[in-house]
Amino acid sequence: MTSFSKKLRLLFFCTLICSGTVASASTLDPQAIQSPIFDAERLQLTAEYARRHYGATTAVLSKPQMIVVHFTMIPTREKSLDFFRPPRIDRQIRRDIAGGGEVNVSAHYLVDRDGSLYQVAAEDILCRHIIGFNHTAIGIENIAVDADDLTLSQLEANAALISRIVQRQASIRFLIGHHEYRDSTLPHYQLYREDDATYRFTDKVDPGPIFMTRLRTLLDDRYGIQLKK
Ligand SMILES: [Zn+2]
Repeated sequence: MTSFSKKLRLLFFCTLICSGTVASASTLDPQAIQSPIFDAERLQLTAEYARRHYGATTAVLSKPQMIVVHFTMIPTREKSLDFFRPPRIDRQIRRDIAGGGEVNVSAHYLVDRDGSLYQVAAEDILCRHIIGFNHTAIGIENIAVDADDLTLSQLEANAALISRIVQRQASIRFLIGHHEYRDSTLPHYQLYREDDATYRFTDKVDPGPIFMTRLRTLLDDRYGIQLKK
């Protein structure tokens, strides 16, 4: 082996270790279609984001304590994936949060309108989907343009997915809708962390109180799961 290829192997090994790219079976959902979007560049940018906002040293999401439900405000899965796939945030479209770092937004899961499920990141990778909580949150995005657009199939797919995440991740204690994230009177708020004083909350309406009430009721009735807000 030449010294150059030794260096290359070392670099590759370091990238794996430093970024936590090795997805184990316990971080992948067996019922999801795997559609990974994280490459070495995105992991590097995520590690930079984690360092700046949470004092972390890697892009690893360790012992997540909350699940956050969203909708995309984008009408189709294809367009949503196109939006999430680039490693760097579009500075024109997301001027509101572009100052917070280079890495693009994404959740871990996408739920299409017919309830079909796509996993774009393993559950041990930090995704940028909720200011102040990404260091401890697994994100689920539903394909919908507004709250009225969410379907019964999506509701049922969210509940089933959350029941499996809770089985895999014993550390999960909270479930919130993105619209609830700024409420400092709710128990999940104890997990808030933001080291960059210039980085502020943005207003969120997704997925809305009606969907979250129905989701919490379904989780309790069908799966016996109650998670704090
Ligand atoms: Zn959201």
